[in-house]
Amino acid sequence: MKTPQAIRGTQDIFGAEAEAFAHVVSTFEKVRKLYRFTRIEMPVFEKTEVFSRSLGETTDVVSKEMYSFEDRGGDSLTLRPEFTAGIARAYLTNGWQQHAPLKVATHGPLFRYERPQKGRYRQFHQIDAEIIGAAEPLADVELLVMADQILKELGIADGVTLLLNTLGDAASRDAWRSALVEYFRDHKADLSEDSQDRLERNPLRILDSKDPRDKPFVADAPLIDDYLSAEAQDFFGKVTQGLDAASVDYVRAPALVRGLDYYRHTAFEFVTDRLGAQGTVLGGGRYDGLMESLGGPATPAVGWAAGIERLAMLVGEQNQQDADVVVVAESDDLIHAAIAAASRFRELNYSADVMATGSPRKRFDKAVKSGATCIVSLRSDMNGVTSNIRRNNPDAAEIEQAWLQMKPFILA
Ligand code: ATP
Ligand code: MG
Repeated sequence: MKTPQAIRGTQDIFGAEAEAFAHVVSTFEKVRKLYRFTRIEMPVFEKTEVFSRSLGETTDVVSKEMYSFEDRGGDSLTLRPEFTAGIARAYLTNGWQQHAPLKVATHGPLFRYERPQKGRYRQFHQIDAEIIGAAEPLADVELLVMADQILKELGIADGVTLLLNTLGDAASRDAWRSALVEYFRDHKADLSEDSQDRLERNPLRILDSKDPRDKPFVADAPLIDDYLSAEAQDFFGKVTQGLDAASVDYVRAPALVRGLDYYRHTAFEFVTDRLGAQGTVLGGGRYDGLMESLGGPATPAVGWAAGIERLAMLVGEQNQQDADVVVVAESDDLIHAAIAAASRFRELNYSADVMATGSPRKRFDKAVKSGATCIVSLRSDMNGVTSNIRRNNPDAAEIEQAWLQMKPFILA
């Protein structure tokens, strides 16, 4: 019988890659606590409208990438393609307004029907941080500084650049939009089919096009700067001054728009050229319009998400740490003593393995070869049970002390 195959675009992450993945998540967890973001856990699926109404029907994600299905009750459900829309939905359903401004963080799997390739999967994972109910540019700054710190703690900040733009407030964005329509209409015949289609529905997205046919026109398109209201300029100024104050470097990217409908004011991406075509590691911005598209009250908010796989690829493979201690049972009558000793070591916060299978004569040598800091080997002979310590490095002295203290109880 044939064994089942994995679904295309999913990943079974193992070994050094899984360690790198875990390292990204634990660094995120550590930093989000430093910035006092509350942890939340979100459903993996939502009603389809949660995404179609907030991301916009004409976005790539909604029009081509969602995993939507009808469940047994006849509702249209969708595996989440991103976190933000579901978090906004939760904010409204649960009345989290009372906690505003609300700083939340989460991570987990997302699903998009994309063409699988290195750094692009159909089930992938993100870390995500959002500040909801905060209209001030200070919130944008805090999120950007936090993202920067995560990259620094992961040791990958050097090859990564923060690209920053503003889309302005609603009035600025509308004026810019009209100018873009006028400009691109003159070149319509030379644009990609997708962009011709975007021209009427959402011309901003042409700027986001990856099609080489669109690139030359994108390069000469009108810039948002000529359409920014004084208020929008002031907002953006406060964001950049905040970044300067925190010593976070950025590059102004006037054509950066991000693919989704709900963005206003600040838009940003952290990009690298070390991952080939999949160069965006973290992206986000301000989405003051999102709550209203879900039928809620106007609620300013800002957030970002980063692909864990792409961050892990930059971090590089990480080896599992060698054990602090291996407890060896040199004969089978000592297995229970070895189990007891290992669990005591773990209670004391030392990582521990038990070596109690295979040929008894080889167990000690295998333990020594494992690279553990300290080996505690238990042996029984005519004189009763004795223990033998092997110290592999100076840290072992501390572990040996711990062993000497527990020994009378373990071998009693
Ligand atoms: P891209 O331009 O690469 O398609 P995106 O703009 O669609 O990215 P976002 O929706 O902003 O991406 O998601 C934020 C981050 O999540 C990305 O910067 C990337 O690191 C990661 N990401 C997005 N889609 C995938 C995917 N299919 N596989 C792996 N990581 C992904
Ligand atoms: Mg995408």
